Amino acid sequence: MPTMSLPYLPKLLLARLQGKTPTLWVNDRLGQPLAPNSDSTDAILDAQARMQRFAPLLANLFPELAGTDGHIESALMPADALKRAVVRGDADDASAWFVKRDDALPVAGSIKARGGFHEVLAVAERIALEQGLIAAQDDRRVLGSPEARALFAQYTVAVGSTGNLGLSIGVMAAALGFDTVVHMSDDAKAWKKARLRQRGVRVVEHAGDYAKAVAAGRTQASASPRSHFVDDEQSPLLFHGYAASARHLAEQLVAAGRTVDAGHPLFVYLPCGVGGAPGGITYGLKAIFGAHVHCFFAEPVASPCMLVQLASRSDSPVSVYDIGLDNKTDADGLAVGEASHLVAPLMVSQLSGVFTVTDDELFLNLRMLKHTLDVLVEPSAAAGVRGPDWLLSSPEGQAYVRTHDLDMREATHVIWSTGGSLVPPEALKEFLERADALARDPERAGQVA
Ligand SMILES: *Cc1c(COP(=O)(O)O)cnc(C)c1O
Repeated sequence: MPTMSLPYLPKLLLARLQGKTPTLWVNDRLGQPLAPNSDSTDAILDAQARMQRFAPLLANLFPELAGTDGHIESALMPADALKRAVVRGDADDASAWFVKRDDALPVAGSIKARGGFHEVLAVAERIALEQGLIAAQDDRRVLGSPEARALFAQYTVAVGSTGNLGLSIGVMAAALGFDTVVHMSDDAKAWKKARLRQRGVRVVEHAGDYAKAVAAGRTQASASPRSHFVDDEQSPLLFHGYAASARHLAEQLVAAGRTVDAGHPLFVYLPCGVGGAPGGITYGLKAIFGAHVHCFFAEPVASPCMLVQLASRSDSPVSVYDIGLDNKTDADGLAVGEASHLVAPLMVSQLSGVFTVTDDELFLNLRMLKHTLDVLVEPSAAAGVRGPDWLLSSPEGQAYVRTHDLDMREATHVIWSTGGSLVPPEALKEFLERADALARDPERAGQVA
């Protein structure tokens, strides 16, 4: 079945992946944290400073941000009830579970607000500086003026997306007055397309998967000098926008009374599509917590692109199609066949591992979040829910804990929830109905429980 040889992918692992059996793969090349003061740290600080500079403008542009003075952040929600539901047995140790609520990030309703808004603002800022609309020290609120809108209207911002990135880029670019084009695969949700069109965004549909939509957008944009293409597969501006979120999480952990050090490990579970969002966040967290933070990605069994890229140890791109998988999943934000070429090499030394998730499990996880915490998310956003269970209960997870000599009774687990608050209520209701039907089917529910 495989069309190319992947010498390092162990046979047993390959068989599990091809059989779509949920699997925890542990990265044995996990290495030393980044040296502080490296260029990367500077780029993260730049992104944090940019979001700070632009907060007053964002508060003007989006009424829903008035209450946060233009800061786009999400809550760190205690998840004790989820812990009790998953661990069942002894849940009375000092470990603490949280859900990071990026599903409720204002304006974009998904984790894509972080990278996407940062990139659009960086582009607008560069144009405004180059064209003499502002000087370096000026108040960025000028970028919301009629003169700025007239300037930005001469430029195109384009993006290729399965949905959420398109929403985030589209909303921000259109709010600033850019001519905005979102290239989507034709399986993208109708409500996302409708929402964008309402805001004056041009939506172009493409047959085929996410990578095809990105490629089409990239080609069209490169033909025009006044066009900026937000490239989900290789954009440093997106990546550093995601990385900038680590600082706020560190503050939230302090506020919650959670120490992170050798005796108190931090585990973070992140749904992974192309890898930009979870990779950027991992990169930001590693720069702060070094070896004391353990980041794991969650990928659909049909689309484990980061897993195959890293586990194959290949320097050239490897896709899930190469091992005979079809990249078909209900987790539309995660249906990506090939990992980002920018991000995958950076994860070689930073990522602790990847676990895979069946579609059934996504819906059962979603149901569990609803029942235990009254949080309703989209399927992709529920991918990380079983992360702590993998570490605590699987042989691979327990071996990881032993190898790194970690005290799990003192651990902090952060399950990153990544999207859902803008999903129309009817669609959310359908997610839950499907989950309820699954839960009533003992055979399928049992495979997960
Ligand atoms: C995009 C997305 C992800 C993953 O981000 P990548 O940068 O594609 O890895 C996870 N969850 C949701 C809901 C998303 O939209």
